[in-house]
Amino acid sequence: QHEDIDLKRYIRNIPDFPKPGILFYDISTLMREPDAWQIAMGRLARQIAPWEPDMLAAVESRGFLTAAPLADRLGCGMLMLRKPGKLPGATISHTYDLEYGSDTLQIQADAIKPGQRVVVMDDLLATGGTLAASVTLLQKAGAQVVGASVLVELTGLGGRAKVDAPVKTLLSYE
Ligand code: 5GP
Repeated sequence: QHEDIDLKRYIRNIPDFPKPGILFYDISTLMREPDAWQIAMGRLARQIAPWEPDMLAAVESRGFLTAAPLADRLGCGMLMLRKPGKLPGATISHTYDLEYGSDTLQIQADAIKPGQRVVVMDDLLATGGTLAASVTLLQKAGAQVVGASVLVELTGLGGRAKVDAPVKTLLSYE
């Protein structure tokens, strides 16, 4: 009965965030509506299930929001890719270039058993830098990255071409 609901109605655009000239796609307004959020999680689950993941890898911080309910729905594990200094124990890092400067993501060194099937999750794909770096880090940690899943894709930036895994998205914007 919910199959034809257009979830784009629930994504809000905020101009000039976090910097002047940037149009921010805000998923908070989707999460506030329990019916819409449940439909979104159901659709993501149907996209991800065919990849048969052992683990979902959640990118800090909005990737946590979708990975946790989906790991529960799909009956797989989940792990966090975090900014430096947040994860206890031995970690593996990957540093990647941004438009200005660089950023680092970390994973717990023992998070993945060799060859486990991993799907990486974030809220939004723009330039693809974050997802590409996440895939590289997961591969360093021994994962077989079988897919990447986002709620929102900004297609005009061609980001998915940078990601060394098939990408699925719920909502696409030019
Ligand atoms: P990329 O690395 O693909 O250029 O940017 C994607 C990353 O930046 C994601 O981790 C995402 O959370 C964040 N991001 C960039 N722009 C937006 C936006 O408009 N909305 C949201 N929700 N996240 C964004």
